[in-house]
Amino acid sequence: MNRPPIPDPPHRGGCLCGAVRFRFDARPLAVNACHCRDCQRLTGATNFITVYSPREAFVHEKGQVDRYRKRADSGNESDYFRCANCGTRLWHEPLVTPQWTMVAAGTVSKDTGNVVVEPPPTPTAVTRQ
Ligand SMILES: [Zn+2]
Repeated sequence: MNRPPIPDPPHRGGCLCGAVRFRFDARPLAVNACHCRDCQRLTGATNFITVYSPREAFVHEKGQVDRYRKRADSGNESDYFRCANCGTRLWHEPLVTPQWTMVAAGTVSKDTGNVVVEPPPTPTAVTRQ
């Protein structure tokens, strides 16, 4: 399978309603799919895919966010950021790793190239009759 190259930074993104916008001016450090219970509860899904940005390269450009601090079973704390208007989970900042901002992969815009999550072509068409 051929994969497209990761486009050059900056990478931009935002929330569902468009109020919050962010960018990161660096190549991603990593991509992670976390299946822990905290990520399942916070997303309502089976896992949560994040793109690791160097924190000094991450810029919250506009829009009001709510911050929620959560302590994991490990004792480590993270700050979770959501759009104050539409509630989209946008990024989180683990206190134990101040060098990273973990950006929700699905919030990274395609207009500058989607970093990771580009759905594959639908293998078969669904026909409703
Ligand atoms: Zn929003």
